[in-house]
Amino acid sequence: MLQTVRGKIKQNEFGICAAHEHLSIDLSRIKKDPDTILDDEAGMESELHHFYQAGGRSMVELTNEGMGRDVQRLKRLSEVTNVHIIACTGFYKDPFIPDFAQKWDRDAFALYFTKEIEEGIQNTGIYPGVIGEVGTSVNEIKPVEKELIIGAGKAALATGLTVTTHTSLGTMGVEQVNMLFDLGVPKDQIIIGHQDLNTNKDEVLDVLRAGVYIGFDTIGKTNYRPDEDRIAFLLDFIERGYHKQILLSADLTRKSHWKKHGGPGYDLVLQGFIPKLQEHGVTNDVIQDMLINNPAHAFSIKER
Ligand SMILES: [Zn+2]
Repeated sequence: MLQTVRGKIKQNEFGICAAHEHLSIDLSRIKKDPDTILDDEAGMESELHHFYQAGGRSMVELTNEGMGRDVQRLKRLSEVTNVHIIACTGFYKDPFIPDFAQKWDRDAFALYFTKEIEEGIQNTGIYPGVIGEVGTSVNEIKPVEKELIIGAGKAALATGLTVTTHTSLGTMGVEQVNMLFDLGVPKDQIIIGHQDLNTNKDEVLDVLRAGVYIGFDTIGKTNYRPDEDRIAFLLDFIERGYHKQILLSADLTRKSHWKKHGGPGYDLVLQGFIPKLQEHGVTNDVIQDMLINNPAHAFSIKER
């Protein structure tokens, strides 16, 4: 089963999934840029309609507390658009962790996340379906980020939910895996995010060899890396047989990413990226795994 903002659904109901997105977000407290505020609910609805028209049926929304989380809005959007939405518990990374939690240790993080998973988010009656996006800095894990990742891992063990991470420019993925493995978190409860931003292929292969899921989840963000480079790495990973561990998404966070403001919109993976993979000979079975089967399993609640 998967926990969505409208309740639990079966794996086969999940459909084509965007595995790492943001609909309602406000990063302006730190970024000081009004482009990083998404608060136009009618706009979210119309952007989601475009996603649905392109075949999208589910979205994992990884805006946590400190990033401007609003799960009641997500529930309203899911009701009007029919897109399944998974909300999250978690905190992002330094310096986005809310003031009240900045000195917490692993047990305090674990307790907070576990309570939201078991009792719902702040008396809304809405439950998180994933722990994320919990993250680390570029080429370094700050002390509070270590406590955060380990706390997320402990909550994953206690509840069966999956941990989905943020890596900065793809770095420290192996270190994240090792912290979670040391706790005993199973590989099918771990998604290491933003691995399409790491230009060091050996590091990404190390993460894949560990058997966990990875996010190719900043597709279309060509200011960081051209999509041709993403495709070259992805084709190699598919060739090596890792396609059952790969999830796809675009991680939109800005007004300028939306169609109504001239951006590509949430359907860019389906409309722009998948056809390019097909031109390169990627089979429909592999595409179906990356878009449908892998996320359905990755985000299912693991009962052991
Ligand atoms: Zn994100």
